[in-house]
Amino acid sequence: MSTLPIHPHPVAFDVLVMGGGVSGSVAAIAAARTGARVLLVEEHGFLGGSLTAMGVGPMMSFHNPDGEQVVRGIPDEIIRRLQARGASLGHIADTTTYCSTVTPFESEELKIELEDMLTAAGGEVLFHTQLAGVIAATDRLAAIVLCNKAGLTAFRAKIFIDATGDADLAARAGVAFTLGRTGDGLAQPMTMNLKLANVDTAAVREYARSHPDDFLWSPVGQTEGLRRLASSPRLSLAGFLGAWKAARERGEVDVPRDQVLFFETPTPGVVIVNTSRIAGLNAADPFQLSRAEMIGRKQCAQIFRFLRTHAPGFAQAVRMDTAAKIGVRETRHVAGLYQLTADDLLASRAFPDAIALGGYPIDIHAPSAETTTTKPLRPSARYQIPLRSLLVERPENLIVVGRCISATHEAAAAFRVTPIAMAIGQAGGVTAAEAVRGDVAPAQVPYAAVRERLLQQGAQLPAP
Ligand SMILES: Cc1cc2nc3c(=O)[nH]c(=O)nc-3n(C[C@H](O)[C@H](O)[C@H](O)COP(=O)(O)OP(=O)(O)OC[C@H]3O[C@@H](n4cnc5c(N)ncnc54)[C@H](O)[C@@H]3O)c2cc1C
Repeated sequence: MSTLPIHPHPVAFDVLVMGGGVSGSVAAIAAARTGARVLLVEEHGFLGGSLTAMGVGPMMSFHNPDGEQVVRGIPDEIIRRLQARGASLGHIADTTTYCSTVTPFESEELKIELEDMLTAAGGEVLFHTQLAGVIAATDRLAAIVLCNKAGLTAFRAKIFIDATGDADLAARAGVAFTLGRTGDGLAQPMTMNLKLANVDTAAVREYARSHPDDFLWSPVGQTEGLRRLASSPRLSLAGFLGAWKAARERGEVDVPRDQVLFFETPTPGVVIVNTSRIAGLNAADPFQLSRAEMIGRKQCAQIFRFLRTHAPGFAQAVRMDTAAKIGVRETRHVAGLYQLTADDLLASRAFPDAIALGGYPIDIHAPSAETTTTKPLRPSARYQIPLRSLLVERPENLIVVGRCISATHEAAAAFRVTPIAMAIGQAGGVTAAEAVRGDVAPAQVPYAAVRERLLQQGAQLPAP
């Protein structure tokens, strides 16, 4: 068998970010704004990852249960820019009552905004490109091998950031990782998101107002839920409990989930239905991922028929699409310098190297049941993410950002949401650029330098 030729790319970048989801995009923007020459590599032809390719929305949440904003910086700047384009309503009350706020956005505009922000900062993007392998030197990554229409090409960089969500780069580089929860290794289930248009949201609101027991209003209760329902400019609900249960008993839907969950986008009447559930499959395994895509699509067809037939306000709904890729909540978590735990988050433990804050609860879509388990936070909680959870022992020039940083299954169920994933990305990007500037490994960058740069970039951090 002949060896495939690998051509070296002529340019050596300072920072190469693998994966253009929101954490990778924000990492690339932050690194470029800190002065590094940055390349962002993405397998799709657009940025945004879960928020664009997987049809996820709204972002939730920039706020803690009390309504205090805990994520700012580049993530919040993205929202303000989207608002200026008429592509987001900003942070609005969450009518499911699960969070204090949600942030609906137009995914097509998000793609453009992320590209604009990165290119304005001097960063470059390489689309339609997959990670094929790594070239290791002692304790370092010398280069990574990328695969695209040009074949296999080796790209050098001083610092690499793994923003693949699945820790693909770290795993290829030999970094130890855990998969899913302790015990059986099962991860949170996948969900194929379904987008519908022409939903009569006034009729849905009226039905929810007159049948509140058919919906979930947790954790703040029905009274607060109905108050928000009356005033919030866009609708989100978890319910249709009675009709859904009956349809499942009749065998019309075989989705292993106890509720219908949907969120209205900024375009009135266009909703994202986050209801399908594909459990027990490993999204880091290509064959299992392929099976999940097919199961998810069939479930979405059932969900669409259910809504049109049984859900008030959905009779004239039009199916726009299922997402380009099935939604993957969880796969690998790297074994980093510090493994973040649920206790850390529930206690809002203070870390000497805090680089981001969060206020979203521990939200576990059960890996092997129909339910969703929540470990609520104290209303005033502002948990901290330490820089060490983004760093690994070896390779010393690798940083990990987004949902696959070093954490337990339970802790990841909280910070995985997009505002916090973006805040983590911003810190990873700043750390990478500071490492380049000081010609040191990321673990050698003084925390004070990262903190100062993050504060300059508007990030929200705990008081020193
Ligand atoms: C069904 C579902 C519903 C959710 N609901 C919400 C919600 O309502 N609100 C909220 O805020 N969050 C929600 N989340 C969580 C949130 O969307 C994600 O956890 C978050 O976006 C993760 O961002 P990330 O950048 O870490 O990873 P990702 O968004 O997964 O981005 C990874 C990127 O890397 C690319 N990539 C991966 N591997 C490779 C490779 N080998 N080569 C090249 N490119 C690669 C991918 O194409 C992708 O663009 C949901 C997630 C799911 C799956």
